[in-house]
Amino acid sequence: MTTIHLRRGKEESLRRFHPWIFSGAVHHIDGQPAEGDLVRVVTSEGQYIATGHWQIGSITVRVLTFDDEPVDALFWQRRLSVAYQARQAMGLCQQHNNTFRLVHGEGDNLPGLIIDIYGPTAVMQAHSVGMHMCRQEIAEALQQVMGERVRNIFYKSETTLPFKAGLGQENGFLLGGSPENVAVENGLKFHIDWLRGQKTGFFVDQRDNRSLLEHYSNGRRVLNMFCYTGGFSVYAMRGGAQLVHSVDSSAKAVELVNQNVALNFAGDQRHEAFAEDAFKYLERMQPHQYDLIILDPPAFAKHKDALHNALKGYTRLNAKAFEKIQPGGILFTFSCSQAVSKEQFRMAVFTAAAQSGRRVRILHQLHQPADHPINIYHPEGEYLKGLVLYVE
Ligand code: SAH
Repeated sequence: MTTIHLRRGKEESLRRFHPWIFSGAVHHIDGQPAEGDLVRVVTSEGQYIATGHWQIGSITVRVLTFDDEPVDALFWQRRLSVAYQARQAMGLCQQHNNTFRLVHGEGDNLPGLIIDIYGPTAVMQAHSVGMHMCRQEIAEALQQVMGERVRNIFYKSETTLPFKAGLGQENGFLLGGSPENVAVENGLKFHIDWLRGQKTGFFVDQRDNRSLLEHYSNGRRVLNMFCYTGGFSVYAMRGGAQLVHSVDSSAKAVELVNQNVALNFAGDQRHEAFAEDAFKYLERMQPHQYDLIILDPPAFAKHKDALHNALKGYTRLNAKAFEKIQPGGILFTFSCSQAVSKEQFRMAVFTAAAQSGRRVRILHQLHQPADHPINIYHPEGEYLKGLVLYVE
């Protein structure tokens, strides 16, 4: 195995278990690692400190272990087993809920790997070439750990692997192949389109926030903006909403939300979906048309350099909702941009509230759920934040 020698002092963050090594920390390399290779990392004194996947770029090693141990079948089984036990402890693996994230990258000490479980199907996504190369071993370990509970493993890395790695088409089943794709979240059913959908096909990370929304929905006129598969819409309907309007700029999303509403509330006239741009819809809708609005846009800032514009975008979007919402209305507003901190997001929403001149109270501060854990040594893993606001 190739050995990476660090510059003096560069082992400090690794001693605190931070799982990334930046290229500037490397002093010299014994050998010529290829992207995705397992490498052994030593301090300037030659002492072992970590093993990880080599990659080309500013993050040059993603650490798999700080113990001098082989990364073999048993290693993957141990890691997946800890992740699975944690999800069982969270109460997520049950008949009324079989949709959860089993592996959340660094949050589960497996940088570059995502595994979402949808009933009997696991959807696995590699964000690094190293994880891509280990996909078969990981799939086997997953079967060992989950046994009969996983009958299909769909591998979906076409859009997540670094382009430069030139690995081509990488979507397909590693196990099974059942087209059955209905999963259950808190007793509600959802079609999961892992093949064509965004991410692994569903935004598992909003589960707890959807549950909270359900409790605020009774008798309300709900606007679910950026609805995608309509998670929030379906919960609002179960919560007794008077009407639910779902909006997304993608016609495909509108098709998905209609399917999911039909799956749970066939023939229910309370729901309608519109394919339209969010800003245009918010502009043209009537004042006081809704008394519960959800704003869950895509990440406005994918990188730090887009931060300024992203914050302006959040302000502009929220200002529209404040301007139009019925007095006594409730706004669920989110940001899933990792580059935007919760303080910055709150400031953007504060600015929007001030512009509208409305009286606004913060009722809840929301975040990602337990199955998207944050590794305490890797605070960069915190990305989802939200506010529930009462607008007088
Ligand atoms: N709330 C969803 C996830 C939202 S993902 C859930 O709980 O599952 C973001 C969605 O915003 C995507 O479906 C995307 O199609 C949509 N979108 C992106 N830009 C948009 C715009 N300008 N107007 C309306 N929808 C937009």
